Amino acid sequence: MQEQLAGLFKEEPEAAEDVRGRYKIGWEFVTSSVSGASIFTITEETLGKRFTYSVKRKDLRASGQYPARTAYFLGELTGPDNNSDYSYVGELDIGAKKLRFTRKSFMSDTAPGVVVFRKYLDAVLAGHDPEARGLLVHHCGKCGRCGRRLTVPESIEMGLGPECAGKV
Ligand SMILES: [Zn+2]
Repeated sequence: MQEQLAGLFKEEPEAAEDVRGRYKIGWEFVTSSVSGASIFTITEETLGKRFTYSVKRKDLRASGQYPARTAYFLGELTGPDNNSDYSYVGELDIGAKKLRFTRKSFMSDTAPGVVVFRKYLDAVLAGHDPEARGLLVHHCGKCGRCGRRLTVPESIEMGLGPECAGKV
C-alpha cells in the first residue's frame, strides 16, 4: 500500500490525457528534485470551485529520533501569484496514506481546500475515478505565448493565459 501511494507522486508520461494537461484518472505529481514542486488544480464540480495545490518533495536528514526520510508537503494557493503564493497545509503521510497536519499547519479539517483534497485522495486510494465523483484534476500548464505558469483549468486546456488569449 505504501507503494500505491508513493506511485501517485511519480510522473507517468504515458498516462492517458484526454484534454491538454488533464488526466482522466491519476495523480501523477512530478516530484523529482529537479522540478522541485508539482502544481495541480482540482475542480470540485458540484461546488463549482477550484483549488490549486503544490506538492513539494523534501529529503529530510535524520535528526534526533527521526530517521532520514522523504517528505511530501502540501501547499494551497492562497494568493494571486501561482509561482509563490502557496500556504502550507500539511504533510502527505506516505505510510498512513493521509494528509496530516503538523505543528506548522494552520488550516482546519473543514477548510474547503482540505476537504476537497482529502476527497480526491480517498477516491484515488479506493481505486475510483475521481471524475466520477465530480473532481477534475489539471496539472499546471505553461502559456504558449509568454511561458507563464497556468493553473486555471480553462487556460490550461487552451494553452494560453487570459492576457495572451486576447492577443492571438
Ligand atoms: Zn501568456
